[in-house]
Amino acid sequence: MDLCIIGSGYVGLVSGACFAEVGHHVICVDNDQRKVDMLQAGKIPIYEPGLEELVHRNVAAKRLRFTNSIQDGVDHSQVVFIAVPTPPQTDGSVDLTYIERVAREIAGVLRKGEYRVVVDKSTVPVKTGEKVEATIKRYNREASFDVVSNPEFLREGCAVPDLMKPDRIVIGSSSQQATDLMKRLYEPFKAPILVTDVNSAELIKHAANSFLSLKISYINAVAAICEASGADVEMVADGIGMDKRIGRNFLNAGIGYGGSCFPKDVKAFIAIARQLGTPFSLLEEVERINAHQLPRFIDKIRESLWVLKDKKIAVWGMTFKPDTDDVRNSVAIDLINKLVAEGAQVTAYDPKGAEKAVEWNLVDPKKVRITATPLEAVEGAEALVLATEWKEFANQDLEKVRSVMHTPLVFDGRNLFDPDTMRQLGFTYCPVGRPNVKP
Ligand code: NAD
Repeated sequence: MDLCIIGSGYVGLVSGACFAEVGHHVICVDNDQRKVDMLQAGKIPIYEPGLEELVHRNVAAKRLRFTNSIQDGVDHSQVVFIAVPTPPQTDGSVDLTYIERVAREIAGVLRKGEYRVVVDKSTVPVKTGEKVEATIKRYNREASFDVVSNPEFLREGCAVPDLMKPDRIVIGSSSQQATDLMKRLYEPFKAPILVTDVNSAELIKHAANSFLSLKISYINAVAAICEASGADVEMVADGIGMDKRIGRNFLNAGIGYGGSCFPKDVKAFIAIARQLGTPFSLLEEVERINAHQLPRFIDKIRESLWVLKDKKIAVWGMTFKPDTDDVRNSVAIDLINKLVAEGAQVTAYDPKGAEKAVEWNLVDPKKVRITATPLEAVEGAEALVLATEWKEFANQDLEKVRSVMHTPLVFDGRNLFDPDTMRQLGFTYCPVGRPNVKP
């Protein structure tokens, strides 16, 4: 089938490459000329494992191309996906200006008598599909189209496998013709398909992300009780998670959830519920607990180091999770900036995210020394803080790390290391929700 995706970011580009991989003809559209130039030159603007080879293979096979022209995309596609940003506004509600603009742009290029399915893949509040449909109709009375909601559940860092083998595909549609086309499009993925009405599909996405955030905040609240009582949150999470009704996933205590999705989607769901007159105070608590994690963790660092001013602190990790270069809304970045604000001399290392953190002005390279290796970051450090659980950190030669540090003190914000190993190696080790260990 022929399709286009408007917005070639983390969702649009990876989805486009995966649709091409299963044999469809895909045009990725973006209005960021720099991004389009890069993609046309064979350069991939984001890091996602497996993406580069997927893009190159499908471009070479002439199943994938890039343009800045919505007209070009819509003219050559049966299905038109929207994958543009839906950022939060100051009151937590979703800024839908990108979606509205694309709806108008699509209306401007739809041709009479040429049926198209317009699919919203961006995460949007319930009832947005109705607004997209009304907007296209308002700007093009002769257009023949249906609007479908097809929320995306990929996780950054494993977006390619998530898209190639999804747990489920949700198609929110009120038109049989559109539903049939969508089913054909997804047929090669051999995944369970759930067909719903448009409103339910939109709601599924916000409800799913809010539930995952709730699991994280739940275990973080349990972690605080563990710390106060001397219990070990990892054991507690294993014990809870072995119950199949609960599951172990997303029960990892740490310094809280971040990234471009969970914080904004929880906020959005709270705002949507409020607007609909059905307040969702449970989610407000989820946010409150999450916001509390980093200050609690920094308190712990302060307890050990007393005054942070002029202390040399190494931070491993800047991205919001491993295997991505995405530093948007990363708790690791907040941590670095809070340490800097207290006068600490921070050195930081991240396998993929450092460049974007500087490029997007999220950290000030005059105040944070960014190093080329994890070992360089810890040289002479009075403490090491682990902020993102990259495998590279788990694989470090920790004896070497200890030998170059000024003081062998580790604060593990993601419970990556094994306490016994750390003790044997001679570290004072402070994880989250587990007892501290000393050599
Ligand atoms: P992104 O910022 O990485 O990419 C969005 C792209 O859209 C950018 O390249 C931007 O230049 C382009 N764009 C904006 N306006 C445009 C226009 N008028 N015409 C053409 N291109 C335009 O965003 P993302 O992370 O891919 O997220 C997109 C949507 O998907 C959001 O609603 C997000 O919540 C949702 N989502 C994201 C993830 C994730 O893990 N990143 C997962 C599931 C859902």
